[in-house]
Amino acid sequence: MATKRATPFQRAHALQYAVRVTQRSTSNESNASVVIACECLFCVYFGRECKIGSKRKATSYVKYFKKPFRADNYTQHHTSQHPEKWKQYQEASEEEKKNFFDDVKPVKQTLHGHFGAQQVCERFLINTDIVNTIIGDMLWDPEDVSGETHANMTYDL
Ligand SMILES: [Zn+2]
Repeated sequence: MATKRATPFQRAHALQYAVRVTQRSTSNESNASVVIACECLFCVYFGRECKIGSKRKATSYVKYFKKPFRADNYTQHHTSQHPEKWKQYQEASEEEKKNFFDDVKPVKQTLHGHFGAQQVCERFLINTDIVNTIIGDMLWDPEDVSGETHANMTYDL
């Protein structure tokens, strides 16, 4: 029975396929660390792209790659889950690839990441007095308006 040769992680793939090593093993005898898993940076920073016409919401899970670290595993995921970003990334120069995720907030830290684009709209019930006071404070500046009071500046909500 032939054993499947597991393709080890190749460092060059990190930039080429926008993946980041997340887990290493250092327990082997040579003491060299072996990559166990890496994550898809498009998933981390942009989230998965919604398929046009798809009724299902794109999952927000970050894709983790494990052995075998084959290039076609990355490309298959990128073309199906991040077609737009993957296209941009492939067209980018090496320098641009290095900076591709700079200044991008990971999608988990955004409202969309937490609630999903569909659920961002939320309604809160806030006491009118609180709203009036806040709006009144924003508009009312004793330096500018002499004689006006909060009561004059409030809105009927
Ligand atoms: Zn991904």
